[in-house]
Amino acid sequence: MMNRATGAAHTAHRDQYNAAAADARRTMTALTAHGGRTARPADPWVGRQLANLRAALLSGRGQMCPHIGTAPRVIHAAVWAPGRLVCPGCVSTLTPDPAEDATCDRCRRTADPIHPTVAQSGPLLLTFGLCGPCLTRTGRAAA
Ligand SMILES: [Zn+2]
Ligand SMILES: [Zn+2]
Repeated sequence: MMNRATGAAHTAHRDQYNAAAADARRTMTALTAHGGRTARPADPWVGRQLANLRAALLSGRGQMCPHIGTAPRVIHAAVWAPGRLVCPGCVSTLTPDPAEDATCDRCRRTADPIHPTVAQSGPLLLTFGLCGPCLTRTGRAAA
């Protein structure tokens, strides 16, 4: 059902969505400037993680921090915390425990070092840790 009011609301929502996506891109740029790795969203494994996350978000099954409202904004998630979505202020609540921190999120093997990697989809930023071989498969070197 689309009337003039919902059409206008939709436009405002899209503007906010675009602003949030731009924020997410800026965050990505800042992360890579500090040596973080970015993943190819086109990678099938990354694509699956992002799809799961979007499904959790859209279905309301996701566990969200209290600061995520209906307005789009940058949302952080981590592969090791499935279905959890947090605002930039709550990112520290996604910190993995030491065992998880030493486990590759893609192959589930323990490795040292684990490379922190981020993938972006619109306003969503998904973080995960990868071992060396998985980083080669999944990521691209910091720009
Ligand atoms: Zn929050
Ligand atoms: Zn791995």
